[in-house]
Amino acid sequence: MSTSNPTTKSISLKEYGIKSENVHYQLSPSELHDITIDKGMGREADSGALAVNTGEFTGRSPKDRFIVKDKITEDKVWWGDINIPFSSEKFDALYDKVINYLDEKELFVRDCIACADEDYRLNIRVINEYPWSNLFAYNMFLRPTEDQLKDFDPEWTVINAPGFKADAEIDGTRQHNFAILNFTRKIALIGGTGYTGEIKKGIFSALNFILPVDKNTLPMHCSANVGEEGDTAIFFGLSGTGKTTLSTDPTRRLIGDDEHGWTKDNTVFNFEGGCYAKVINLSEESEPEIYGAIKKGAILENVIMDDNGKVDFADTSITQNTRVSYPIYHIDNIMEPSIGDNVKNIFFLTADAFGVLPPISKLTPSQAAYHFMSGYTAKVAGTEAGVVEPVPSFSACFGAPFMPLHPAKYAEMLSRKMKDSGVNVWLVNTGWTGGPYGVGTRMKLKYTRAMIHAALNGDLGLYTYDTYHIHSVFGVAQPRQCPGVPTEVLSPRTTWNNDEAYYKTAFKLSNAFRENFKKYESGASEEIRRGGPQRYAF
Ligand code: ATP
Ligand code: MN
Repeated sequence: MSTSNPTTKSISLKEYGIKSENVHYQLSPSELHDITIDKGMGREADSGALAVNTGEFTGRSPKDRFIVKDKITEDKVWWGDINIPFSSEKFDALYDKVINYLDEKELFVRDCIACADEDYRLNIRVINEYPWSNLFAYNMFLRPTEDQLKDFDPEWTVINAPGFKADAEIDGTRQHNFAILNFTRKIALIGGTGYTGEIKKGIFSALNFILPVDKNTLPMHCSANVGEEGDTAIFFGLSGTGKTTLSTDPTRRLIGDDEHGWTKDNTVFNFEGGCYAKVINLSEESEPEIYGAIKKGAILENVIMDDNGKVDFADTSITQNTRVSYPIYHIDNIMEPSIGDNVKNIFFLTADAFGVLPPISKLTPSQAAYHFMSGYTAKVAGTEAGVVEPVPSFSACFGAPFMPLHPAKYAEMLSRKMKDSGVNVWLVNTGWTGGPYGVGTRMKLKYTRAMIHAALNGDLGLYTYDTYHIHSVFGVAQPRQCPGVPTEVLSPRTTWNNDEAYYKTAFKLSNAFRENFKKYESGASEEIRRGGPQRYAF
C-alpha cells in the first residue's frame, strides 16, 4: 500500500515537450518502493530493501556513451574511443523520439542536487520511466530541503527511458542503447538500458568537464573519509578495487564513496548523496557497515533471493556486478555536510591480479603522477576452472570513461595539489598475493584495512632505508613492518616462494606499464616519466 506524503504533487513537463499528465513528482522513497512492488517490477528482501533486476544491462556500456560535439565541447573534449562524438542534429532528432516515447507513459520526476559544497551546487531534474530508477536518483543524488525545492531551477536534466530502443542506422547510435551528454542543452539522454549506474555516471561525466573548465576544481573518481584529527584521505581506484569498501570505515567519517571535487581552497566535497556498493560475496562479518545499510530504502540490483527474500550474495548467476544503492545516511559515521579539508593521504587502489605489486607502498611525487596517468588495475578474464591469465587494464586518472578532457589536464591539477598540500601518496594492491590469480589468493581485507590504518596513523615510519625497501622493478617503497600484518605479506616476492616466477611476472607487468605509457610519453615531463618501472635487462 502506498503511503500518502504531503509533498507529493504533480508537475508539467511541457517545457520538455512531454504532454503526459500522469507524472509523479518528488515521491517519497517508500512510495516508490511500494509502487515498484505493486507493478511487479521488484520484490522486498527480508532486510526491507527493494530488489530489482535492471534488465538486459547489468553494468555500464562505455561503447555507447557519446558526447555532443558542439561549440562548448569541440575544442576541449579529448575525442576518441572514450569520448565518442555525436552530432547536435542527431541528438535533437533522437531527443524528440525519446520524448515522443515517454509522452503516453506514467513518469517519475525528481529534483535533486549534485555537489555538497553550496558554491558548486548543480541542480538536476531526473525524469524516469521506471519508479525504481527514480528511487535510485533519490538515493544517489543530494536531496534538496523543502526550502531549496520552493523555487528550484533545474540546470541539468537526466532523461532516462530504459524501455526505448534506438534504431542505430537512423539514430546514429552504435546499437539500441545509449547515454549521450549534451552540454549546450544540458541534458543527459539515456535510453535502452535500465542500468542505474548510467544515471549517476552521466552527471559525474558532466561535472568532470564543468568543474575543471569553469571552476578550477579537480573532479576525481575516488572515495573519501575523515579521521578523528580532521585529516582527509582520498582513495582512487577503478571498479572493484575497494573505494566503497575501504572508505566505509567505522573509525573515520565517510565523505563519499565514488565522486569528489578537490577545490582551489583545498577542500574535498562529495558530488553525491549516496553510495553504490558491490555486494558480490558480501558478508556481515567482513563488511558490517555496508551489510547494515541494506534495509528499507536501499535498492538491491540483480541479486538472487529465495522465497523468503533471503539474498544469496554468492550467487552471481545474473551478473558479478550485483549492487546496492543507499542514501549515505544509512551509514552511521558520516561527515555532514559531505565536505572535508586538510588532505593528508592519497591511496591509489589497484587489484593486481598478477600478484606482483606490494600490498602497500609509498610513492614519490613523480611515481604518483605516473601511476595516476596510468591508472592500473587488472581484470581476471574468466572464472572457469583452469589457468586464466590476468589482463592488465589501464584507465587514465583511475576513471578514463568518465573524463571528457585529456588525462594530462587532470594529472597536472592533481600534481599541483599534491605539491601544495604535501600529501603522502600510497599505492595499495587489494588484489592477489602468493601468486597470480588462479595460484595465489586475494589479499585479506583485514590486512588491507590494517595497512591503510597504519599509513593514516603514521605507523609506517619515516621514509628511510631501515623502514622501507625499494622494489627492484617498480621502484616503489615497500614498508618492512606494519602493525597487524605478518611481515612476509608485505613483500610480494616472499609470498610467491618462487623468485624466478615472481620476477618473470613482475617484468611482464612492468612491460605492460611501459607499453601503455607510450601514448603519453611525448606529452609527459621527464619528472613524470621517471616515476615508471625501472629498466632492468634480465
Ligand atoms: P566501483 O567503482 O565499481 O564502485 P569500488 O572501487 O568502489 O568499485 P568496491 O565496491 O569497494 O569497489 O569493491 C571491492 C570488492 O572487493 C568488494 O566486493 C570487497 O569485498 C572485495 N575485496 C576483497 N578483498 C579486498 C581487499 N583486500 N580490499 C578491498 N576490497 C576487497
Ligand atoms: Mn564504489
